[in-house]
Amino acid sequence: MPELPEVETIRRELAPLVVGRCLVTVQFYWPPVAALPPADAFAREVKGRCVRAVGRRGKYLFLELDGSRYFFVHLRMTGQLHREAYPFSPDPHTRAAIVLDDGYALRFRDQRKFGRFYLVDDPERVVGDLGPEPLDPSWTPQKLADVCRHRRASVKAVLLDQHAVAGLGNIYADEALFVAGIHPCRQAASLTEEEVARLHAAIRHVLTEAIRQGGTTMRSYVRPTGTTGTYQHHRRVYRRAGMPCPRCQTPIQRCRVQGRSTHFCPHCQPL
Ligand SMILES: [Zn+2]
Repeated sequence: MPELPEVETIRRELAPLVVGRCLVTVQFYWPPVAALPPADAFAREVKGRCVRAVGRRGKYLFLELDGSRYFFVHLRMTGQLHREAYPFSPDPHTRAAIVLDDGYALRFRDQRKFGRFYLVDDPERVVGDLGPEPLDPSWTPQKLADVCRHRRASVKAVLLDQHAVAGLGNIYADEALFVAGIHPCRQAASLTEEEVARLHAAIRHVLTEAIRQGGTTMRSYVRPTGTTGTYQHHRRVYRRAGMPCPRCQTPIQRCRVQGRSTHFCPHCQPL
């Protein structure tokens, strides 16, 4: 599933391609992609609006349109945006085409069909409940401590909670906990001030590193230009069960936390 670094990579690649262009229409091949409003109204309301900026909030990508409209895209499990000459023929996984006025469109492919589009005048309607952005300077170790303090859940569960901090998913939660030397099953409330500070720094470190690598391509994530990310070659624990820890050579273990596959080094991340 695309997480913050993948969505940020998409944002950076799309911006020079779409800012200043206007939308001819959005063609829906599978109408339920349009979560708000329904497909017919969505296509009618975007028509002719121009793209002022491309933004990201958590794992949401958005086009800021003129007339104070925000076009949010959540890729969920398998969503992809790919820039292609238009018209094109829809393959079985093409759910929509965001048609621009330069002869190109963004093809939205989504094998699992969980991805959604939203068109709103107030971004809060879509992202109002999200927690802070982990790369924003205003996100301090104290803010992370505040969301851990009263939580009986595991620290991994807190990192996956988009209300606690926005944009982390399974890959970067596991990677950050390894870098911080914290076992994913530790109760969040049990972390010391020093551990929280280490985790805060580790989250920023792995996200920044992953953005520099253009994200992680292990399953379906592909950038709008068709290239792939390279963080998978630098990952430390994620999906490396049985392979040696990069720090101490102990085999990486896998367990399940809240139903999610979780990877850690039993030596570097003692419980
Ligand atoms: Zn280790």
